[in-house]
Amino acid sequence: MTRLESPERVLSTLEQDGSRRWLKPRLSHGAFLNYRRKVGYALIAIFIVIPFISIKGKPAMLLDVVNRQFTLLGYTFLPTDTVLLALFILGLFVAVFLATALFGRVWCGWACPQTVYLEFVFRPIERYFDRTKEEGRVQRMIVKYVLYFLISLAMAHVFLAYFVGIENLFKWVRQSPLEHPASFLIVAATTGLIMFDFCYFREQTCILACPYGRLQSVLLDRHSLIVSYDRERGEPRGKLRRRPRPDDNTPERGDCVNCGLCVMTCPTGIDIRDGLQMECIGCAQCVDACNRVMTKIKKPTGLIRYSSQATMDHEAKRLIRPRVIIYPAIVAIVAVAFLVTLSQKKTADVTVMRNLGNPYTVLDGDRIANGIRIKITNRGKSDANYQIAPVNHPDAQISLADGIIAVAAGTSRTEGAQIIVPRSAFVDGAFEAAIRVSDGSMFDQTITYRLHGPYSSAAAPEEPR
Ligand code: SF4
Ligand code: SF4
Repeated sequence: MTRLESPERVLSTLEQDGSRRWLKPRLSHGAFLNYRRKVGYALIAIFIVIPFISIKGKPAMLLDVVNRQFTLLGYTFLPTDTVLLALFILGLFVAVFLATALFGRVWCGWACPQTVYLEFVFRPIERYFDRTKEEGRVQRMIVKYVLYFLISLAMAHVFLAYFVGIENLFKWVRQSPLEHPASFLIVAATTGLIMFDFCYFREQTCILACPYGRLQSVLLDRHSLIVSYDRERGEPRGKLRRRPRPDDNTPERGDCVNCGLCVMTCPTGIDIRDGLQMECIGCAQCVDACNRVMTKIKKPTGLIRYSSQATMDHEAKRLIRPRVIIYPAIVAIVAVAFLVTLSQKKTADVTVMRNLGNPYTVLDGDRIANGIRIKITNRGKSDANYQIAPVNHPDAQISLADGIIAVAAGTSRTEGAQIIVPRSAFVDGAFEAAIRVSDGSMFDQTITYRLHGPYSSAAAPEEPR
């Protein structure tokens, strides 16, 4: 099959015939690599340690999807905390926008798990096992992939701990997978995904799949910190001429000796000398590579450096600009709204829901029963007995054992019940019942709930039986 060639390279990771260009970026030692390594290993340690940490008897972070409860820094967001959770996520997004406006893609190059694990776990292993020696190549490859697998498996287990808690994780790994098939499948799928990502997909995640990378063009401005090549200083690029001959009339050259090391070291395969590109993750590998070259040829370092488009074009630095004012203002508003909402939270959440089936039943005599479900979430630190009572009709009753729902601390419970009200209370087929829920001390709330009953007029629909 013949492949059509593109007249020019479209993507840094595609050959001109459309096949994948596999990147094996060269390691460039330097100050930024040292800092990034420290940050990267610290982040990996934090990722592993968090599931073990408890704050006020609760996990530091637990994403209990099954029970729809998210615990963060000792506070549990319950299903009734949608507003709080929405505010928290909104604040996080705007804070990321702000960080991007100020520091460019610092997240991508320094802290994103994709970069951290690829550059500081998987690639070092690859470099170690893919040394050029021919003998033992197959064995080395097998050991490399076994190591990849074990690391992926460990990462998948830590990942699962964020969803089920560390105690459950330790318990479940000692049991048969058949006892917890869902968790087993999640770990298996996550391990497979990690292997696929770090062994095969790699930089494609940043270039093609990551939505954050795609948003860069709108999140950055001319004053954002980016990795830039100093074109004025570097061009015209060309081979270093240590001692130009007297008859050499070629024009003066810039500092770039066109060694190509900045391209060879780039994990996304781009040439930063072509200017800011969407593929640049701001990792500063090219900065380290170029600084070494500059040191070697006794020129000042910083031909490639962290800077901004505006600085490179000799524009005055502007720290204060619209997005640097608007984003923090939004973060502050969201933070205040979050704290106010949090401070108004009561020690329990009560939801009254209608039962499935007939909206109401006509009981013997003249009484109407509505089937309901009462869900109570006890946010307090101790167990509580909640007294439930209809309060706005003297003959209203609730069919619930002792009129009480007992709920353990930090849990939710849903109980079915019937509210029974005389037929005479209904007007146009409805009665607004007031239901008081009280734990006898901290919590006391009256909830209004519409009961259905028979219409009193002649045109009323037929009563359900
Ligand atoms: S590493 Fe520096 S000197 Fe070498 S090609 Fe890149 S910019 Fe030029
Ligand atoms: S151009 Fe430089 S900073 Fe950007 S991704 Fe490549 S090596 Fe990293």
